[in-house]
Amino acid sequence: MTDRKTELARNLARVEERIFSACAAAGREREEVTLIVVTKTYPASDVRLLAELGVRHVAENRDQDAAPKAAECSDLPLTWHFVGQLQTNKVRSVASYADVVHSVDRVRLVTALSAAAVRAGRQLDCLVQVALDAESGNRGERGGVSPDGVAELAAALDAAEGVRAAGVMTVAPLAGPFAGRPRAAFDRLKEISTGLRAAHPAANMVSAGMSADLDDAVAAGATHVRVGSAVLGVRPRLG
Ligand SMILES: *Cc1c(COP(=O)(O)O)cnc(C)c1O
Repeated sequence: MTDRKTELARNLARVEERIFSACAAAGREREEVTLIVVTKTYPASDVRLLAELGVRHVAENRDQDAAPKAAECSDLPLTWHFVGQLQTNKVRSVASYADVVHSVDRVRLVTALSAAAVRAGRQLDCLVQVALDAESGNRGERGGVSPDGVAELAAALDAAEGVRAAGVMTVAPLAGPFAGRPRAAFDRLKEISTGLRAAHPAANMVSAGMSADLDDAVAAGATHVRVGSAVLGVRPRLG
């Protein structure tokens, strides 16, 4: 194996062990949690090595970087997740390679994603991104809709062609009542998910947890964790 492949294998094994332990502690089956490796800022060659090591889900947060990487890796058996704030002018590109969009936070984006998916002949699983620190009716600084806006977006998704409401996503807030309390934040997300599933039973994905707090997310019931630096290393630049 190349040095890089050995390094990625070692990091993946550590993350796998953390997910396994968190599942065991929570009385959950390991299969209930899907690992998504966030490959932003890292090259397509790393995505290829990860696929060789058995990774099947990867995520990106900027279309400019993601589009060429996905094209270079189109021969690999990967599911592509888009997890970044999304401008409507990028939607057509994102809809061409992404299978799951985690960052739906406004009706205008639902409309744009629907049109792009229909045009591309694709079906997009969409998660409503929840900003747990946003005031009622507002969006968060890092994207996401306030908790009381989730139902409207899920209804819009299920009314539109080419997209469907697949669940909820959050990033543990840096400010507000949940700052420094990722477990409480993820418990709140799980509550929001339970409420959503009453109206949309198929919207059962709960995307929560990153390198620092994936253990809390698994404990709180996350179905998908998004892990970047713990697998690939500390990013050379912000992304
Ligand atoms: C970068 C990113 C991650 C992964 O973060 P790490 O701390 O590197 O694990 C997860 N989710 C989103 C939305 C991200 O932008």
